[in-house]
Amino acid sequence: MTRLLIKNGHLIDPAAPENTGMSVLIEDGKVDAWFSSTDVLPTDCEVFDASGLLVAPGFIDMHVHLREPGQEHKETIASGCAAAVAGGWTSVCPMPNTNPVNDNAAITRYMIEQAAKAGLANVFPIGAITKTSDGTELAEMGEMKAAGAVAVSDDGRPVPNAGIMRRAMQYARDFDLPVIDHCEDKSLSSGGVMHEGRLSLLLGLKGMPALAEEIDAVRDIMLARETGARIHIAHVSTAGAIEAVRRAKADGINVTCEVTPHHFTLTDRVVEGYDTNTKMAPPLRSEEHLTAILEGLKDGTIDAIATDHAPHHADEKALEYDRAPFGITGLETAVGLAFSELVHKGVIDLVRLVELCSVNPARILKLEGRGTLKPGSHGDVTILDPTLEWTYRNSVSRSKSRNSPFDGRSLVGAAIATIVGGRLVFRREA
Ligand SMILES: [Zn+2]
Ligand SMILES: [Zn+2]
Repeated sequence: MTRLLIKNGHLIDPAAPENTGMSVLIEDGKVDAWFSSTDVLPTDCEVFDASGLLVAPGFIDMHVHLREPGQEHKETIASGCAAAVAGGWTSVCPMPNTNPVNDNAAITRYMIEQAAKAGLANVFPIGAITKTSDGTELAEMGEMKAAGAVAVSDDGRPVPNAGIMRRAMQYARDFDLPVIDHCEDKSLSSGGVMHEGRLSLLLGLKGMPALAEEIDAVRDIMLARETGARIHIAHVSTAGAIEAVRRAKADGINVTCEVTPHHFTLTDRVVEGYDTNTKMAPPLRSEEHLTAILEGLKDGTIDAIATDHAPHHADEKALEYDRAPFGITGLETAVGLAFSELVHKGVIDLVRLVELCSVNPARILKLEGRGTLKPGSHGDVTILDPTLEWTYRNSVSRSKSRNSPFDGRSLVGAAIATIVGGRLVFRREA
């Protein structure tokens, strides 16, 4: 029997009244009990002293790319999980664009087994919507769900055909799986490498219009209304898409959405240096879109923060801007950016941070006993120091790839320790 007592932390669990000096006992992987400062604490257990720190239900990153199977030179499930726990994430959800694509139960099972071998973060795979994600024939969603998949998505290669997406939503609804869509109408964005606007003209780079995201988001919302499916818009980045989600929620449509740290931190201005670590899809947008994202985070339209961690080898990113692949790493910078850009600037409070990073991802993906530290739930805990000043360095990243635009960035706030199933899997060195 293993017993871990997290002592004297400031517990932030939206399921409970906020409480300072609260201690949490985890026994055999599950939360056993809470103790207030006046209770007699159990002895004969391992102790983590969380005095002066925040204790939150384990953070869940519902959108990552772990590259295994198929592109292990960029990342493996083990290296991705190491980066995850170093960033404070106790669970990650890998997208299916591996090689082969995760469109069947065997690959889903393989990912979960590799994660178990690594013994760091929990891995909840996302299965493909269509076989090989080519947008034509539906994948076996039921079999993938039985193997452990928690959602379906053709992230990166969004289903272009509304008729197929409609059938996919009906099918996913019958299996009670959320459909996660990378909203991008490629007939509008194809060939584009950055946000379409004044700057793309100035820099002579082909733009991806905001409209490409908005048209697809509106289509998905209409299909969700008709089919009753649960739709989740991945990495929302435009004012129009956020407004569409806001209105759909008001209309009672089952839609949720996530935002990435890079989209709430940076604008297309950083593309000016032609650094390929500023190239991702959706692209960094202009100021007005960033303002809309902050508004959506503030008013609850945006449900989750997800990294879209997309590792690429340095050689691949070392091409000219037009030819470099899309995507940046993000697991180790997300929490620092969320504190620095959102909490410390007064956009959101600590309870909302925990909702965005833990409670809501658990709810959207129906991860039973996660997103809370109520007794009986899984012993997944993220321990945070909101005031720690540090500088992120690509050179010390646990990821196999180093393609972050935040190298050298000063941040305030970090994950100090990560506990998965009652086991301390990461502790930040002082
Ligand atoms: Zn995507
Ligand atoms: Zn992605």
